[in-house]
Amino acid sequence: MKNCIFCKIIAGELPSVKMYEDELVYAFLDISPINPGHLLVIPKEHHVSASSIPEEIAGRMFHIGSRFGVAFKRALDADGFNLHLADGACAGQVVMHAHLHVIPRDVEDGFHWNWRQLEYDGDDGRTAIAEKILEKFKK
Ligand code: 5GP
Ligand code: ZN
Repeated sequence: MKNCIFCKIIAGELPSVKMYEDELVYAFLDISPINPGHLLVIPKEHHVSASSIPEEIAGRMFHIGSRFGVAFKRALDADGFNLHLADGACAGQVVMHAHLHVIPRDVEDGFHWNWRQLEYDGDDGRTAIAEKILEKFKK
């Protein structure tokens, strides 16, 4: 994709600190990390949305991301890690080439997800949502 910064990074037309590459995925350090070591795993094929990434490539992204999570624990003494993917501008996606964030975490790193917890309108409300989604869920 011509005007995509992540496609340019894969092609070597823009610089990056490369962390991993194989035939399907590429990983590099995020330029503005939540914590040092924060990296991005991206498909080599240009996909805007995670939903269009073929299963083999999406699986590789998750697998490599998790392996870096283990490396964070060993190399940085991280307590844990987050895997995060924003799909769509409303979800916080800024770069429109799908990417999996892999973020090293420490108990006292001072970063807090603003994670709200709503309540369903009783059991019926919860079941109604589940049924509505499952009607359109394509296996
Ligand atoms: P999003 O908000 O789309 O999920 O995340 C995009 C991420 O890409 C951000 O964390 C941002 O710091 C990172 N990013 C944007 N442009 C560049 C770049 O040119 N190089 C690198 N290494 N990271 C970038
Ligand atoms: Zn791209």
